[in-house]
Amino acid sequence: MKDRMNQLVEQLNQYADAYYRLDRPVVSDAEYDKLYRELVELETAHPDLVLPNSPSHRVGGKILDGFSKYQHQYPLYSLQDAFSFEELEAFNRRVRKEFPHATYICELKIDGLSISLTYEAGRLVVGATRGDGSIGENITENLKRVQDIPLTLPEALDITVRGECYMPKASFDRVNQIRQEAGEVEFANPRNAAAGTLRQLDTRIVAKRGLATFLYQEASPTEADSQSHVLDKLTRLGFVTNQDYHLADSIEEVWQFIEDLAGRREALPYEIDGVVIKVNNLAIQEELGFTVKAPRWAIAYKFPAEEKEAEIVSVDWTVGRTGVVTPTANLTPVQLAGTTVSRATLHNVDYIAEKDIRLHDTVIVYKAGDIIPAVLSVVAAKRKQQEPMDIPTACPSCGSSLLHYEDEVALRCINPLCPAQLKSKLEHFASRDAMNIAGLGSSIVEKLFSANLVQDVADIYRLSVEDLLTLEGFKEKSATKLYQAIQASKENSAERLLFGLGIRHVGSKASKILLETFRTIPRLAEASLEEIAALDGVGTVIAQSLTTYFSSEGAKTLVAELEASGVTLAYLGQVAAADALLAGMTIVLTGKLERLKRSEAKAKLESLGANVAGSVSKKTDLVVAGSDAGSKLAKAQELGIEVRDEAWLESL
Ligand code: AMP
Ligand code: ZN
Repeated sequence: MKDRMNQLVEQLNQYADAYYRLDRPVVSDAEYDKLYRELVELETAHPDLVLPNSPSHRVGGKILDGFSKYQHQYPLYSLQDAFSFEELEAFNRRVRKEFPHATYICELKIDGLSISLTYEAGRLVVGATRGDGSIGENITENLKRVQDIPLTLPEALDITVRGECYMPKASFDRVNQIRQEAGEVEFANPRNAAAGTLRQLDTRIVAKRGLATFLYQEASPTEADSQSHVLDKLTRLGFVTNQDYHLADSIEEVWQFIEDLAGRREALPYEIDGVVIKVNNLAIQEELGFTVKAPRWAIAYKFPAEEKEAEIVSVDWTVGRTGVVTPTANLTPVQLAGTTVSRATLHNVDYIAEKDIRLHDTVIVYKAGDIIPAVLSVVAAKRKQQEPMDIPTACPSCGSSLLHYEDEVALRCINPLCPAQLKSKLEHFASRDAMNIAGLGSSIVEKLFSANLVQDVADIYRLSVEDLLTLEGFKEKSATKLYQAIQASKENSAERLLFGLGIRHVGSKASKILLETFRTIPRLAEASLEEIAALDGVGTVIAQSLTTYFSSEGAKTLVAELEASGVTLAYLGQVAAADALLAGMTIVLTGKLERLKRSEAKAKLESLGANVAGSVSKKTDLVVAGSDAGSKLAKAQELGIEVRDEAWLESL
């Protein structure tokens, strides 16, 4: 048992390392999940045997009361700044005056937050923020949820290491997308997003946000004689170090690295705000020592801010899948960080009001992450008597009144038949992680709508090859191909459908968890808020959204229509595949069972994919009757429903 747990932890950590640190996955998600579930089962049965480096420490929610102060044993320093080559030359002269042969290491200045990690006997004991350099906050629980931070080291060392915790551009875009759809305020940039995440009191949120780290410093170096060897050592211990560093013999070579970097900065998967130049030799570092504030042996070159002025020519208001109406400014084109920018997001109505942004204003535009640029502020001095911005009161797509909820920053169109929403709903329905209907992209969706062939997602299953042939550009072959792709999607396991329905807050991961438990969409639709919220990885926000959705008449009709078209409503994934025996069946238990308790029988049927209902109706597929069965049995017989006994149940 212990051996197996050991083995699982080893293996899972190796897989996670390949995935998060080396960015080279070696197993499928499904395989990982399977092993992980086995480990959690063993750990639940033997809580005393949970290993300190078990990946289960990284998940599972904890609600913290707050953060306690943490006194750093070795203070964290800040850095002197430089904004030009001249300032770097001055730094070089100061260093070279005392140490003519000093050489430099140039490291990327990652735009995140400094963190300090302390290990005792190779185990992570404290993770803390920088704070004022000598006193920070203890955020250990949150940092444990950052996947690439090792919980244990391969050697039983007492060591404190420092580095940067940041949000990769990809995570930032994903997090903001979710926030936009939920009508929440978006993070202004990855740095703010990382800071906000590390201050979360709900550790589960931290786990979901996809933070990452680069470590670059050992608080009190032993064994290494240079900064580049410190990086080697940290790498050996399993930390992520940034390998995009450069050893330079002269300050001119440092400058060359900086110029080269400026050209490829955009393409990096994370944000940097400059380059940190350090004397490479640790003995020389020690000799040079510190000023009151910062080391004399390092300097941070900062890139000029990526901001430009531009004029707002017009504003587009577009309706998204969830009905949120988002303003985007069209600008006079400007060069920003190597690209021509002519559009920038204005985020939402509240943002426009707060910054008092008006049409034809000259504004400061900047780049945040990979998304389209954003408007930062108005250049007040350049305003030429403008009226406040016209805020639409009607949906630009369907004309119905827009709502501005008190707890939301966004405007919303809540018309369920709004064409703009229906189109993007359909695109979402067909997308890869949802129903995965190849060939049903935005331009085809547009054509289907203009030809009046579809209005909602149920309509696509009513399309014939002939219908498709009426669309511009379709030939026999292409129409048949799309038709077949649509038909094939009916066989998808239902978590794809659930995700495809585009219910607020219900992502593909939650869809899977929900259907693994409830097995079929009708069963999920009947589940109570409490039942749903009790699931690990789901929570009340999702539960609330689901119950609201399924209580609407529109949703009921839609699901019924999909079912009538032959779309699968049952989960066909792993657990069910082995015994899909009862998948999608509705079974009623009645009478007294001899050997099984009612709850056990129910659990057994559910584990085989059945939906166990309380009363007999036309929808019932099967009744299991024990002794003394009464009215339910009579009703089953009346309706001609198949009846089985306890022996049958046991034989399953
Ligand atoms: P500043 O906050 O502008 O004074 O810059 C100092 C900060 O830069 C440190 O506190 C670190 O958080 C951050 N930093 C990012 N990358 C590095 C790096 N490679 N070496 C040292 N500091 C870094
Ligand atoms: Zn609308």
